[in-house]
Amino acid sequence: MPSTPKTDNPNPILEVKNLTTRFSTPDGDVCAVNDISFSIHEGETVGIVGESGSGKSQIFMTVMGLLARNGKAEGQVLFEGKNLLELSRNDLNTIRGKSMTMIFQDPMTSLNPYLTIETQLTEVLRAHKGLSKQEAYDLALETLKLVKIPEAERRISMYPHEFSGGMRQRVMIAMAILCSPKLLIADEPTTALDVTVQAQVLALIDDLKKKTNSAVVFITHDLGVIAGISDRVLVVYAGRIVEYADVTELFNNPQHPYTEGLLESTPRLDGDAGRELNTIPGQPPNIQNIPQGCSFSPRCKYVMDICRTVRPELREVKEGHAKACHLEGLPG
Ligand code: SF4
Repeated sequence: MPSTPKTDNPNPILEVKNLTTRFSTPDGDVCAVNDISFSIHEGETVGIVGESGSGKSQIFMTVMGLLARNGKAEGQVLFEGKNLLELSRNDLNTIRGKSMTMIFQDPMTSLNPYLTIETQLTEVLRAHKGLSKQEAYDLALETLKLVKIPEAERRISMYPHEFSGGMRQRVMIAMAILCSPKLLIADEPTTALDVTVQAQVLALIDDLKKKTNSAVVFITHDLGVIAGISDRVLVVYAGRIVEYADVTELFNNPQHPYTEGLLESTPRLDGDAGRELNTIPGQPPNIQNIPQGCSFSPRCKYVMDICRTVRPELREVKEGHAKACHLEGLPG
């Protein structure tokens, strides 16, 4: 059984145990998430990193109960001790609108284009917190100010299309934090934004986390994005965790060739201007056709015979740092 990433905080808000997500297709079942276990604790920010198609978003679509109709999950997703995979739709809706919320790359997946921001924010507050119309309006306005929407009193009555991309993303963050969630899941929230707005939105999420002590999960393909804001990082490849560690340890001492490849293809902000950026050769495997043995073996520059036949288990290399690789250490 894979080990669970540990922290000093013994009480997880979210505990995922042996989670497997399968989709039935005309060509048979495919496994997008494969026997994954981890936990997230109060007040921490965890980065989930992997290329697109690695399964990282599917883990949290499963956690949120947002799987496509042909998807099926096994294992346990314990949120404050309750297994979300066994809850009724109503009970799940109560948790995911209030205690556990998600921010998506495209704000229009969460915002209704036909309703004003005021209507959308106040409806959430009235449904989940039972506030009066005036109380809901006041809190909606306060939250828009918290996410730094200029002229919030005027803009609250606007429609989503009247906001710029960056401002819409802030409105979506406002929607996600309205009920002070214990866990905020951000799925590539800044990918569609230009670099300056991206930095502002990241700083905003980090700042809000410090104010509310929510736990934050940051799903991204870009290690650079989470360098400054994560406490821990889980690296996902072909539906499995292949490495996890504290963020500083992961950046200074990567132990899995895939993490090393991601780092080598990430620009650094520390003035290491002469360093060449390398891309990882090849593509992530099609989940309908995962290679035998180590799924990274067709792309790995250190591949050995054993890698093609025996799948490496996730194992700790030191406390709080684990990898799924047959190598003892990275060469060089
Ligand atoms: Fe590379 Fe082998 Fe390690 Fe897989 S197990 S990452 S192929 S060295």
